[in-house]
Amino acid sequence: MPRYFDHAATTPLKPSAVQAITEHSGLANPSSLHGSGRRARLAADSSRARLAAAAGADPSEVIITSGGTEADNLAVKGLYWQRRHEDGRRRRILLPALEHHAVLEAAEWLEAHEEAELVIIPVDAEGVVDLAALEAMLAEAPESIALLTAMWANNEMGAVQPIGRIGQLCAAAGVPFHTDAVQTFGSIPVSFAESGASTMAISGHKIGAPVGIGALLVRRDVKLMPVQHGGGQERDIRSGTLDVPGLAAFAAVAEEAVASLEAESSRLAGLRNRLLEAVEQEEGVRLRGPDPRTHPQKRLPNNLHFTVDGAEGDSLLFMLDMAGFDTATGSACTAGVPRPSHVLLAMGLSEEEARGAQRLTLGWTTAEEDVEALRQALPGIIRQARTAGMAAG
Ligand code: PLP
Repeated sequence: MPRYFDHAATTPLKPSAVQAITEHSGLANPSSLHGSGRRARLAADSSRARLAAAAGADPSEVIITSGGTEADNLAVKGLYWQRRHEDGRRRRILLPALEHHAVLEAAEWLEAHEEAELVIIPVDAEGVVDLAALEAMLAEAPESIALLTAMWANNEMGAVQPIGRIGQLCAAAGVPFHTDAVQTFGSIPVSFAESGASTMAISGHKIGAPVGIGALLVRRDVKLMPVQHGGGQERDIRSGTLDVPGLAAFAAVAEEAVASLEAESSRLAGLRNRLLEAVEQEEGVRLRGPDPRTHPQKRLPNNLHFTVDGAEGDSLLFMLDMAGFDTATGSACTAGVPRPSHVLLAMGLSEEEARGAQRLTLGWTTAEEDVEALRQALPGIIRQARTAGMAAG
């Protein structure tokens, strides 16, 4: 079995999720009026309440979706359409360039087809949003702003944004604020109520539920236009038959993650720091994103991301794969053609520097011996990848 260091992409199903699915499968449609339907509704309601409590939200604020991508699309498009419908001048979407593709491409689609204007919020070299610039942007023609979107923590290099402060600034400016908390929820403390966000995206498979279940938390005073139409489920915001087993699994793992969050995040941060020590010994290796030893709050506890000068991220990944380790470069690959990460470019790296990226993400199945094995393997593989890169270049 390969040793798995790609938990940010997806994490293995947890036993509590399997149990919840088994218990809840075979239930009727929760919208049906008969007794079986009512029993399914009760099960859904109690799972929704547990999920809401884990996320610091009210049950009525939980809109179940098929995952993070759908939740992000619903928030960005739904808020934009609603705000423009109320006032045609609201065309601007403020966002940092390092948003996940689910947000970025949704915003770019609105720019291409719905007259949106994208305004990029600058980030520093560690990938943290420049709050002074954000504040100035909110003050400039606020009547033309449709929404602001900023992810809570980045999926590539793990930088955690000052979400509370962004929430306060948006509230003061009267601008709706969406945050993508897909990587954050279950990893560091997250409270929707305290964040100041209008909407927040979360996803089940990042914390041990199956792929295909997620949620958009929507504050009760926030209106947004639905993207899909149908039976009017989920407060008429997201039509479609509710996935009760998926929701039950999501609630179970969310509750579990929140209960063990403190212990698990310090366990993972400790293991991650040992990997960081090992790679830093090698020449040409640069940590990307905030340094967790000086600023532990600014980086997700399970994330390590570095670039290797003169090496290709893909070669590193391939060599690690051959040695029995599953890792990621972090960036998208379109039709088999690797592209430099838009996140690293937003942080000011050159295409050349961004090419040598490698992301290692830890999770609930990561054991000390996995980390020890990777520590032993990494230095040699980094040297080998550099030699190969330099020979090719
Ligand atoms: N947002 C972030 C930050 C992510 O890391 C991901 C998953 O890669 C998504 C959104 C998309 O979530 P899903 O896979 O549930 O559609």
